[in-house]
Amino acid sequence: MTAFGSVFMPEMTMTRFDGQAWSRPQIVSSERIELHPGAHVLQYASTCFEGLKAFRHTDGKVKIFRMDRNLARLSQSTDLLGMPAIDQDMVGSMILDIVGRFAAEVPEPPGSMYVRPSHIGTEPAIGKAAASSATSMLYVILSPVGDYFAGNDATLRLLLDDEGMRCAPHMGTVKCGGNYASALQVIQKARASVQADQVLFCPGGDVQETGAANFLLIDGDEVITKALDQSFLHGVTRDSILTLARDMGFKVQERELSVQELLERARKPGCEAALSGTAAVLAPVGTLLHRGEEIQVGSGLAGPTTRKLRQALTDIQWGRTKDTYGWLTDVT
Ligand SMILES: *Cc1c(COP(=O)(O)O)cnc(C)c1O
Repeated sequence: MTAFGSVFMPEMTMTRFDGQAWSRPQIVSSERIELHPGAHVLQYASTCFEGLKAFRHTDGKVKIFRMDRNLARLSQSTDLLGMPAIDQDMVGSMILDIVGRFAAEVPEPPGSMYVRPSHIGTEPAIGKAAASSATSMLYVILSPVGDYFAGNDATLRLLLDDEGMRCAPHMGTVKCGGNYASALQVIQKARASVQADQVLFCPGGDVQETGAANFLLIDGDEVITKALDQSFLHGVTRDSILTLARDMGFKVQERELSVQELLERARKPGCEAALSGTAAVLAPVGTLLHRGEEIQVGSGLAGPTTRKLRQALTDIQWGRTKDTYGWLTDVT
């Protein structure tokens, strides 16, 4: 099996900002781009991106999930990085164009087409350490993906880190490469030392998120997750799952969750925990590791509520139930 996100469609849509205006988007080869070695993105990490998915329905139609949310977030990341402002309508058209062009390549369920808009600062200017790139490039690449879990119900092991941080506190809502780079060493160490799959960052004992996914605690009819603030990435999957949970009658609580409360609740027999994100949708967490202790979450297995919420979301994505929230955009 090839690794998630390592196969690409041969073409992409691309536009450049020359300091004044965006060029008319074009479909070009996705094999390579040309950049000056002193390009701002390579020196000072002016880059942000998005991740969303297109789904093939049984009637043959291809639909994209909550594209408006991803466009708004790309725009926000761009602004927070001081990069040339994007035109959300133009980027939306670029996404529809390229997904439409490769509509026949969108995998059947449980696969989908992962869509990756990327915005990079291209100005060759190594003197601009404290200034933004005047020029930039925005492209949308596509990667057909299978089921992240490939049918197995394995649960994740998370190391709780109550000392470190995923990223600088003012960068939490930016979906950018720099944040991933800053979390990488901590995750690598956690893999090597305690065989953790991911690190759950809990600065000062406040349960936040992992390197690339939001965290939800499910205890009976309560769904608990951190309230939106500037310190973490506001996931579209998080929002979708919370919306579905509310409508199913769960008591959704967006609030501070301390490591202490998390560990107390996790030990209860029926407790569940999960990570939410576009790639994995909702991934069950079976074990928490904290200061040398190993705590099993509930039964340690994938729980029924996690399954039910995941199913409800994927049913909408693949058109198996009515799109009552208007989350899908037609491509074909
Ligand atoms: C992308 C991302 C998420 C998940 O966001 P979705 O919109 O649900 O895919 C969560 N945390 C971080 C740090 C991310 O980069």
